[in-house]
Amino acid sequence: YQAKEGGGSVAAYDSSRDAASTDQLALLAELREALQTDDQLVLALQPAVDLATGAPTGVEALIRWRHPRRGWLGPVDFIRPVENSEQLGTFTRYVLDKALAVAADWTRQGLDVPISVNLSARSLLDPRLPAEIADALRRHQVPPHRLVLEITETVVMSELEVIDEVLATLRAMGVQLAVDDFGTGFSSLTFLTRIAVDELKVDRSFVIRMADSPEAAAIVRTTVGLAHELGLRVVAEGVETAEQRLALAELGCTAAQGYHFFKPMPADKIGAVLGSLRDSAESNVLPLRADG
Ligand code: C2E
Ligand code: MG
Ligand code: MG
Ligand code: MG
Repeated sequence: YQAKEGGGSVAAYDSSRDAASTDQLALLAELREALQTDDQLVLALQPAVDLATGAPTGVEALIRWRHPRRGWLGPVDFIRPVENSEQLGTFTRYVLDKALAVAADWTRQGLDVPISVNLSARSLLDPRLPAEIADALRRHQVPPHRLVLEITETVVMSELEVIDEVLATLRAMGVQLAVDDFGTGFSSLTFLTRIAVDELKVDRSFVIRMADSPEAAAIVRTTVGLAHELGLRVVAEGVETAEQRLALAELGCTAAQGYHFFKPMPADKIGAVLGSLRDSAESNVLPLRADG
């Protein structure tokens, strides 16, 4: 249930080229159709876990496209063209709606876990977004604090003035904000003084290099310390090995996400996984892999 890595006929999107290439226009036309069906665009769900107890701290929604002819596509294959098209608003609403439907299911199962949704920075330029999100939360009867919006600082920085108000409105509504890929942007620290956020996500590139790069380890340690100092949650991304997990715990990181714990999984599997994670956390058993 993975997005394929690299490859794929539409993967090699290059923004420096003519955005109106034939393949992209075809893809966007196909997306328009997909957004009108209910089964082509699906969410893969990946839990993050508390490193001490194994309890789920949240679940990230990651979009996948079950394309009728091209096969499974991941975000890398289509997100950029969508961001640069007029379909972005419809796409964003679609993803939020699916994610909140999943969160509403969890409520019915007695699970109180937040769901994280990735937002394209460009969608934050739409002043209607907070009202649309408020409406979706009401329709699904999901309390605002159960929704976490992941934003990437890199893109956000360049449009900070414009999106300030949208983000402030969302936060005032009680929706949570997370900085995705923290440490990879240009002015991460300034960003934190401008926008109040709830969570930092340590980028996978630092987790990968932590073991043999003192610089990468220092960045992880500093990010964790910063989060603690500011009273924010911190989640390490892309944890693939037991060594990385241990190193993160030693650096004071409290939560992590990655293949070592769970790969992104289909919506119909996630409820059972969350239930058993919660139960094993209650009896203080460390988390097992989903397939183990
Ligand atoms: P991200 O938000 O940083 O998501 C983490 C990516 O790392 C995901 O790739 C996830 O499947 C992958 N991943 C998780 N654990 C591991 C691991 O242990 N090892 C490795 N190698 N990879 C891991 P994915 O699903 O292909 O998503 C890529 C990016 O696409 C996301 O990065 C996010 O920025 C964007 N994206 C995903 N879903 C959406 C969406 O619904 N809307 C928008 N606008 N962007 C999305
Ligand atoms: Mg993310
Ligand atoms: Mg990320
Ligand atoms: Mg990342």
